[in-house]
Amino acid sequence: MGDCLFCKIIAGEIPAKKLYEDDEMLAFNDINPAAPVHFLVIPKKHIENLLELEESDTALTGRLFFRVKEIAKEQGCGGKGGRFVINAKKDGGQTVDHLHIHFLGGRAFGWPPG
Ligand code: AMP
Ligand code: ZN
Repeated sequence: MGDCLFCKIIAGEIPAKKLYEDDEMLAFNDINPAAPVHFLVIPKKHIENLLELEESDTALTGRLFFRVKEIAKEQGCGGKGGRFVINAKKDGGQTVDHLHIHFLGGRAFGWPPG
């Protein structure tokens, strides 16, 4: 946790283009966008991934999803939609071990993902 990239963004030690912040979460643009709209919503609490989620954090994760929805609509994706993504651990393609919800929009995505 001490070396966590997203904890450093929360602490202001690494800059990010913030879209939303309150006492329990932060939203910011992905530094390497995979779509015209690509932002992340993260809890300020260091939770490694959804496979480590504790039952006491379920209400928090619900609020994270609500915030993703709000920002996605602000960014013009309410009509055509987009992709909510949470990668978990190695096989999921997780590269930052701090829970984050990706939102990708502004283009169409295929299914299943590659
Ligand atoms: P994941 O592969 O699901 O762990 O996603 C990690 C995401 O974090 C990737 O899409 C990266 O582009 C993004 N990322 C890495 N470093 C930064 C940073 N400093 N600011 C914003 N996004 C970042
Ligand atoms: Zn962290």
